[in-house]
Amino acid sequence: MKLPPPRPAPLGRSPRVERPDRPDRPDQAGQAGFRLDPLTREWVLIVGNRQDRPNLPDGGCPFCVGGLETPDPYEVRAFENRWPAMVPGEPLDPDQLDGRASLPPRGATEVLLYSSDHGASLGSIGRAGVRSVVDLWAERTTALLARPEVEYVLVFENRGREVGATIDHPHGQVYAFPFVPPVARREDEIAKRYGCPLCATLPEEIAEGSRVVSAGGGWVTTVPYASGYPFGALVAPVEHISALADLDDSNRDALAERLSDILSRYDRLFGRPFPYLLWVHPGVHLHVHLAPPLRSADTQRYLASAEMGTGTLQNPVTPEDAAAALRDA
Ligand SMILES: [Zn+2]
Ligand SMILES: [Zn+2]
Ligand SMILES: [Zn+2]
Repeated sequence: MKLPPPRPAPLGRSPRVERPDRPDRPDQAGQAGFRLDPLTREWVLIVGNRQDRPNLPDGGCPFCVGGLETPDPYEVRAFENRWPAMVPGEPLDPDQLDGRASLPPRGATEVLLYSSDHGASLGSIGRAGVRSVVDLWAERTTALLARPEVEYVLVFENRGREVGATIDHPHGQVYAFPFVPPVARREDEIAKRYGCPLCATLPEEIAEGSRVVSAGGGWVTTVPYASGYPFGALVAPVEHISALADLDDSNRDALAERLSDILSRYDRLFGRPFPYLLWVHPGVHLHVHLAPPLRSADTQRYLASAEMGTGTLQNPVTPEDAAAALRDA
């Protein structure tokens, strides 16, 4: 969702994104684009150009200093994905849909490096390290939303081979979409109809406590009452704040502290690097979703037919048990 006009980058840290000339741009290759699924009226992003990308690049880690993508030393860094799912371009006009209802893949896909330390993780770099990442999230979100063709920006991370990460070096990503995707649209519609769900429930959650993992600095980490994911968690400010760019200094520190806390708990929970999906939802009341793919130390949870076929998730770990385990971790 579009934010107010962009603010100056915080703290003078402005690692401008690099956009090297890529001959393999998907719209040039004609192998990528959004297609409308007539059954759902939702867009599907076809990324045929990404199927050919190497699982592991030759020549060592491309994100270590001196590697393919990172010739110079850095603390945190953003750059355009070498195999972009979406690329910059003119704004899309929905009235210009062709007969097969497709859209060129307008937008952007960027890689965000969290640290130059190959063996680190978002959960291990400490509050100051995560704070730099939060600043980068805010800066890239603001910069991408300022582009005329971009309507929505999703900051996310897939951590671990279990969820498809092909490079172990600590990094996240940001996708800029030419429309507001359905999950964000639905959260917005629900807030308009029923009021802000987090303002309505967080004070009670904190008072009741059974699903709270940790809290501090005006932020709280809970296992949601209706978590669809075993050990799933939600990190949010108690105060109603809508966008990363609207977070002041102390809120950014508090978000960094809560993320550092929950991710290190995850790693301690089963005594192993804990895979997870993480995504940031601005728009209504800013929050970070964490969705692990594990139901126990070595049992993967799959989204199966009954869930895919209905959209109704089944979670074998009660949120209260998950919160208790994470508090003890
Ligand atoms: Zn590396
Ligand atoms: Zn709210
Ligand atoms: Zn959300």
